Amino acid sequence: TEEYLRYTESISMIGELSAGIAHEIRNPLTSIRGFVQLLFAQSKMGREFHEIILSEVDRINSIIGELLLLGKESPSDQSDCNLVQLVRQVVVLLNAQAHMTDNEIVLRTELTNLPLRCADNKLKQVFINILKNAIEASPRGAEITVELNREEDTGVIRIADTGQGIPNEVLNRIGLPFFTTKSEGNGLGVMISRKIINNHKGTLLFKANTPSGTIVEITLPVL
Ligand code: ADP
Ligand code: MG
Repeated sequence: TEEYLRYTESISMIGELSAGIAHEIRNPLTSIRGFVQLLFAQSKMGREFHEIILSEVDRINSIIGELLLLGKESPSDQSDCNLVQLVRQVVVLLNAQAHMTDNEIVLRTELTNLPLRCADNKLKQVFINILKNAIEASPRGAEITVELNREEDTGVIRIADTGQGIPNEVLNRIGLPFFTTKSEGNGLGVMISRKIINNHKGTLLFKANTPSGTIVEITLPVL
């Protein structure tokens, strides 16, 4: 247990450190983005270069956004939590950002409210990360379901897709920092989500869906 304590201590140190660094990087990055846009508006240089620079800057930004979340952890952030409302808000958000509408993905929800305490924004981030992964794994027009159930004194949330699924050699590497199988991925979503869920004394597991696809199973203790 002492080793475990030292481990969690170093993890939270890394969290604070990376959040600090992330914050410092974000500001100059914002000016770089602005001036690059200005430069290219005035010059005749190739449009494709312009787009590459901007998309790379945006990629750094998304990594930083995730790292920022690592730093802020405290139990006092937690309050009574309306999980049903929270999931609905995330669905609206993903629809608004055209993540689902572009692929004609249908999201089916089966939600019952449970007495839980949580840090709203953190849990929202978890649902965004996990649902984005499900959307990215899904074929056009597929259905993704979000179910919320009580099983004894545990709240169980299952996010199921019918996408390509996860091969065994990939399965045990998911959640390692920067592990990704996507060309545009940053490999931080699952690590951050799992850390948030663990901070809520819950678990986050990947299971195979039948006949194909993935189920992400999140458990949280109910009051
Ligand atoms: P990223 O999405 O940036 O790749 P994540 O940490 O969110 O990083 O996910 C890590 C990897 O886990 C993904 O690259 C993908 O290989 C795998 N993965 C996660 N969710 C799913 C899913 N629903 N279906 C298939 N693969 C998944
Ligand atoms: Mg992801």
